[in-house]
Amino acid sequence: MAQVGVPLREYTTLRLGGPASRFVAASDAASLVAAVRDCDDAGEPMLLLGGGSNLVVGDDGFDGTVVQVASRGYAVDAGGLLTVEAGEDWDDVVARTVADGYGGLECLSGIPGLVGATPVQNVGAYGVEIADLLDGVDLLDRQSGAVRPVGRDGLGLGYRTSVLKNTDAAVVLRVRLRLCAGGRSMPVRYAELARLLGVEPGSRLPAATVREAVLALRRGKGMVLDAGDHDTWSAGSFFTNPVLPEAALPGVLRAVAARLGAGVPVPRYPAGDGATKLSAAWLIEHAGFGRGHPGPGGRVALSHKHTLALTNRGSASTADLLALAREVAAGVRAAFGVELHPEPVLVNCAL
Ligand SMILES: Cc1cc2nc3c(=O)[nH]c(=O)nc-3n(C[C@H](O)[C@H](O)[C@H](O)COP(=O)(O)OP(=O)(O)OC[C@H]3O[C@@H](n4cnc5c(N)ncnc54)[C@H](O)[C@@H]3O)c2cc1C
Repeated sequence: MAQVGVPLREYTTLRLGGPASRFVAASDAASLVAAVRDCDDAGEPMLLLGGGSNLVVGDDGFDGTVVQVASRGYAVDAGGLLTVEAGEDWDDVVARTVADGYGGLECLSGIPGLVGATPVQNVGAYGVEIADLLDGVDLLDRQSGAVRPVGRDGLGLGYRTSVLKNTDAAVVLRVRLRLCAGGRSMPVRYAELARLLGVEPGSRLPAATVREAVLALRRGKGMVLDAGDHDTWSAGSFFTNPVLPEAALPGVLRAVAARLGAGVPVPRYPAGDGATKLSAAWLIEHAGFGRGHPGPGGRVALSHKHTLALTNRGSASTADLLALAREVAAGVRAAFGVELHPEPVLVNCAL
């Protein structure tokens, strides 16, 4: 049954967004396919909604049909291949694999949202991304209306992106992931996590131990949802870490030296083809935006636990959030000449 005028702020982790003209919940893959095909056949705008944890919806809402993914199902075969429906809660799935004695997903513990969205931006944390475990997905191709399996290599997975992100080209119906038998984690690559666990980078530990450590680190950064903590009323990291082509790096390093003094080390990581990835959080902090930096009327602010999360302090509008995002992006551009790009999907609004 479709509902009308549903406030989308009730379905996003930012608690922002105006009403949807129509709202349909799809409780299995067949009704998900039918709901999307109905919209596409009628030429109606459609927004697919998972857990709303990577969505910034405009204050005017969405003039079309919102299809909420609510399909359920989880099965692991004898070879450790997990098949899971798009509407399952991601962290519940991670917890269940660990409890069932499988490793692989533990570094991705605590990421909000649903399974179907995980390949969309190739979710990642603590040195692991979904591309490392993904076998493939079943997709509804919205152009042809056909349902077909697509292997990992057909998804164009990259740093917080895929062929699915910002395209509305297809719907992920289910995801297949290769788990590690024997309850061992993936190699712990992330230095901060290895330090907390007291192991050398590259070590493998019981998946449950790594999961607990990841959750502890994430909680300290406000990156585990908690309704009572406004620092978690966010879309996670608001900006991706900028990746600079080789030719652009010297100019940025000169701008850093001019502003902060020669010899100040800039965190940077090789990103292939001579490119360098910088830390968006570091750039924001050193451009003068500290934790808790407020936006308009104090209704939005940078998280008090992490400069990369833009948060709703309780009574914000999407316009407030975007004003803060613009202020931060302009400050980083002016200080270092680096352009920041938003990580969440912006619906009916723009930076
Ligand atoms: C506190 C917090 C911490 C976070 N930490 C991380 C992190 O560590 N790493 C990380 O990568 N991300 C992180 N995120 C971002 C977010 O949780 C992930 O991107 C998550 O996968 C989004 O899932 P969702 O179901 O909420 O998607 P939604 O926000 O509902 O949707 C996001 C986009 O995916 C599309 N979509 C949703 N479901 C499907 C589907 N089945 N098929 C096709 N398209 C679909 C939507 O239309 C939309 O365009 C964090 C967010 C928050 C709030």
